[in-house]
Amino acid sequence: MGNRSGKTEVGDVSRWIWVAILGVFPALMFVAYRTVKLEVWWVILAIIYVTNILFAALTLRSLRQLKVSRDLLTTNAVEAEEKRAKEEALIRSLGEGIVVTDKNGDVELINHQAEQMIGWNLDEVVGKKWYQVAPLLDESGRVIPSRDRATQKVFETGKPVYSSVNYYVRRDGSKFPVGTTASPVVIDGKTVGVIAVFRDITKEKEIDRAKTEFVSLASHQLRTPLSAIKWYAEMLANGDAGPLNQEQSEFVKCLYQSNERMVELVNSLLSISRLEMGKIKIEPVPTKLGEMVTVVLKDLEPKILAKKQKVEVKIGEDVPEIKVDPKLVSQVYLNLLSNAVKYTPEGGKITVEVAKQGQEIVSQVADTGYGIPQEDQKRLFERFFRASNAQKNDTEGTGLGLYLVKAIIEACHGTIRFESEENKGTTFWFTLPVI
Ligand code: ADP
Repeated sequence: MGNRSGKTEVGDVSRWIWVAILGVFPALMFVAYRTVKLEVWWVILAIIYVTNILFAALTLRSLRQLKVSRDLLTTNAVEAEEKRAKEEALIRSLGEGIVVTDKNGDVELINHQAEQMIGWNLDEVVGKKWYQVAPLLDESGRVIPSRDRATQKVFETGKPVYSSVNYYVRRDGSKFPVGTTASPVVIDGKTVGVIAVFRDITKEKEIDRAKTEFVSLASHQLRTPLSAIKWYAEMLANGDAGPLNQEQSEFVKCLYQSNERMVELVNSLLSISRLEMGKIKIEPVPTKLGEMVTVVLKDLEPKILAKKQKVEVKIGEDVPEIKVDPKLVSQVYLNLLSNAVKYTPEGGKITVEVAKQGQEIVSQVADTGYGIPQEDQKRLFERFFRASNAQKNDTEGTGLGLYLVKAIIEACHGTIRFESEENKGTTFWFTLPVI
């Protein structure tokens, strides 16, 4: 600002000098004419001469300014072109695939890596819908609708959206796993398009798979010795090797309980690894969810009675039999309900509701328990995660139950969510499609 106003002042001064010269010179000539008695035509000639010089000087100055402006324009244009070329080179040389779409999802640009990955060239896809050019599949091979893709969700959130482990379908029909980050392109505060960066994560998937296979194998192998420990602990407790004194009985009881926890952990690990590897065969049969809830609650009865908790069950009359794998879905109810019992203090209340909503069955498990601290909520479905208050109130737990629950529900094409307030309670909802 200071600079610009300084220049204006200089311009003003030089303008005044010109005005002064142009105004003062004819006046001087007039005075000379009157006092020295110069011939008129001398005066006119002198005026014309000086005026010519002045105009020539002015023209030269304007030309100089014009040249400066032209040079500036050329420099700006060259700089802009260089910048554009640099940006293009940067986009092209990035190891990740990049696609830029407008707000309708039509492709504006894909870089070289994206071309290589999906098998289409830039000029073949410009102006086409990205979700049609590169269909996206989920783990089970279902096409993800365009509204659920990261590139579309960006418009709802206005923030970068990350989606992991989906599969792009190439031009030749083969597929590869990708991790995608889609970010809004914002101009003047308006989202005018999306830029998505995606990476082929085939190698990471292979490593992940090898790890999962290892966990599966290890937990399978651990089951046999754990069963033997359980069996011998039971025999000892029953006095099969002779009567035990009170201290010995206590020790055997601890041994048995620790072994039970280990069995629970190993079983969860085995189920998770099998589910992740797609080794668990989902065998859907027509199932009455209401009856399933009753059976699960019967199993939990001793714990519920021990904590003097009240249980309320509401099953909607219009809830039809649905085709699900009963072993998997009862595992979901068991985990959610045993958590509700575990994380609710004595005398608390647990409510189970199953209702039909459109083409979905919504199950709700609510408790009046300890709740989940706000800062822990976003990590709840992570492997081995246990909230800080859970570790304080109930030291036992693997942190695998909810991870397994989510994996099962997603494998059954359902969804799960929860709401919780510390020291008030927690409610989980999960859906299953009516099929
Ligand atoms: P855990 O074996 O620890 O119960 P889960 O995976 O089943 O493992 O649950 C993970 C964590 O989520 C628990 O440790 C607990 O912190 C929290 N949680 C789950 N259900 C509830 C609930 N009904 N009330 C309060 N906290 C819960």
